[in-house]
Amino acid sequence: MRIRPMTGNTAAGGSQPPADGPQPADGTATADGLREVGRLLAGGGVAVLSGAGLSTESGIPDYRGETGRARPRTPMTYQEFTASEDGRRRYWARSHVGWRTIAGALPNAGHRAVEELRRSGHVTGVITQNVDGLHRAAGTVDAVELHGALDRVVCLDCRRTSTRRELDRRLSELNTGFRDTGSRINPDGDVDLPDELVHAFRIAPCAACGGVLKPDVVFFGEGVPKPRVQQCYDLVDAARALLVLGSSLTVLSGLRFVRHAARTGKPVAIVNQGATRGDEFAAARVAAPLGETLAGLAARLGQPDPAP
Ligand SMILES: [Zn+2]
Repeated sequence: MRIRPMTGNTAAGGSQPPADGPQPADGTATADGLREVGRLLAGGGVAVLSGAGLSTESGIPDYRGETGRARPRTPMTYQEFTASEDGRRRYWARSHVGWRTIAGALPNAGHRAVEELRRSGHVTGVITQNVDGLHRAAGTVDAVELHGALDRVVCLDCRRTSTRRELDRRLSELNTGFRDTGSRINPDGDVDLPDELVHAFRIAPCAACGGVLKPDVVFFGEGVPKPRVQQCYDLVDAARALLVLGSSLTVLSGLRFVRHAARTGKPVAIVNQGATRGDEFAAARVAAPLGETLAGLAARLGQPDPAP
């Protein structure tokens, strides 16, 4: 059965819970798309590329929110972070608040289903654009964290890595009167904070050499390390198909793997609330809640005799 193109099914319609009564266009398209995703997975050898949408059910809002529109924000750039202590102060003050949410987040049904599919051999590799570490927490310890992870810290001077937990303890000691009043958190652990709170924040140097500490994540304006990019290409090359989960593919660092898969003749399927920059490459598009959808697919594929 051929898949109905779903480029018109944006978040405005796709993110609504199923209404009662008939839903001819979207309902049929979703069912067809799901069947195609299930067929791809049943064949095994599927590489997964996940994004912020997979972690929203863990309480980490994505960059777009329910409206599907990008939220106005000014993300920290690598240049701003490395140029001045003021830039670093702004980052660490905001991130000190945001880290509470990230550190307290647990993997959801979507992360668990991906791990289940990996164990059953249907998924052969996972690339994630998320820095929340939730694939790892779900047991997918070899997930390639394309943009790094917030739970690690690296010293820009001596390159020593340490845990965010340790730094968090030091920052809390240095900033005992700091009030956690952050409003809105982003997937990278950043929140909006009033200037006076930022100015009063005290940052911590590397405990080993006194150098500059940076979260072990790829900032805007910073390239992904080449060996890590190659690892992702290898993963896609070794796969039969690529399944995108919860990413609008806005940034090129993720989109390039979709283009690469399409260019090398591998089917691409996308499960995401709303349109993506990779839709033109997709053989199947599904706008459906990820946790429930993936859990359903994993359960069905776990059956000894899946329906044709
Ligand atoms: Zn150091």
